[in-house]
Amino acid sequence: MVHRLVTSRIADLAVPSVINAAGAYTLLGGSRLAPGVAAAMADVSDTFLDLDLLQRRVGARIAELTWNEACFVASGAAAGVAVAIAACVAGTDPMAIDAFPIAGTRDVVMQASHRNGYDYSARMTGVRLVEVGATDRAPSEAELRAALVPSTACVLLFTGPPYEAHSLAVESVVAVARAAGVPVVVDAAGQVPPVANLWRYTRELGADLAVFSGGKGIRGPQTTGLVLGRPDLVEACLANANPRHSIGRPMKVGKEELLGILAAVEWTVQQDEAALFARWERTVERWVAALGGDAIPGVEARRGFPGVHDNVPQCVVRVARWTATERDGFVAALKTADRPVAIRAGLAADELQLNPMFVREGEGLIVLDVVRDALLGMIPR
Ligand SMILES: *Cc1c(COP(=O)(O)O)cnc(C)c1O
Repeated sequence: MVHRLVTSRIADLAVPSVINAAGAYTLLGGSRLAPGVAAAMADVSDTFLDLDLLQRRVGARIAELTWNEACFVASGAAAGVAVAIAACVAGTDPMAIDAFPIAGTRDVVMQASHRNGYDYSARMTGVRLVEVGATDRAPSEAELRAALVPSTACVLLFTGPPYEAHSLAVESVVAVARAAGVPVVVDAAGQVPPVANLWRYTRELGADLAVFSGGKGIRGPQTTGLVLGRPDLVEACLANANPRHSIGRPMKVGKEELLGILAAVEWTVQQDEAALFARWERTVERWVAALGGDAIPGVEARRGFPGVHDNVPQCVVRVARWTATERDGFVAALKTADRPVAIRAGLAADELQLNPMFVREGEGLIVLDVVRDALLGMIPR
């Protein structure tokens, strides 16, 4: 029998790489590891140690770096929300920890306009989601107050551009919840940059826990997330997580991820954010200049901020009389073109967004060529 030569090189796997002008999306591979992250992961990979102690030491260091009181490292922001909800429901009580998934005996309160695919993280614990307000109307403080009852485990808030319309301000939610003795958990997965958000929700706005993805703007391993905030709730996260047999056990964070996210946070808090934004603005300016004006009939381009899911400047391209279906077909076609480029649909049906976040020097021109050629190819002759 002849064995085929098997390698673990990406080049041998026939999975084409794409230029990422879309942003930090799991479907595209997430992020680009920050300098030093892969080395930190390799460095610990051949070592045996007390994983519990490592989680605590890494958590303490990340808390210090981000001006928080405590930190739990999860296997992603979605896992971080699940473990945070479990922590609010069960605390460190072994019987309660063993009881997940529960049968709707505890509530998590959410604003109706915040419901989205990631609320699965809360639902998987078995809590009942209680909505306040409507999808097109923020609740009043009184409505929120009335929803906080003895079975309420916490309020779950989503922050970022898609969730800001029809939403109570974080400060108002915190004030109402605090008066009722109910913790507030903020899912801020993609809200770095700016790096200051790592302490803003907890230290400045008073949320009890804030959850971030380690694999988006922080540029750590894809399978990491941060749960930052109150020490007793972080202790409860540890009690509901790997390596303990608990609802969090299947969301394991290994030693490599722990060192990787620590290196990424160290890099993130030290980087020159003004320089980063200046570079993004330059790229956007070039795209807007080349795609806007009268360059392509029926096509307009402008700078947009924030993006659909992040706080990064974008080049927003608008095509006259485009339907959402045509626009989505255009986005899909670029991803499978000879030189694959990933971009995003914009908020309006006739808009695209080009995101400079992960576009390297030299790739910006390729993105421009590919998008311009595709747009010119649509003009009827
Ligand atoms: C990206 C995202 C998540 C998931 O983050 P992971 O780190 O991939 O688990 C959760 N919530 C929101 C709002 C997000 O944007």
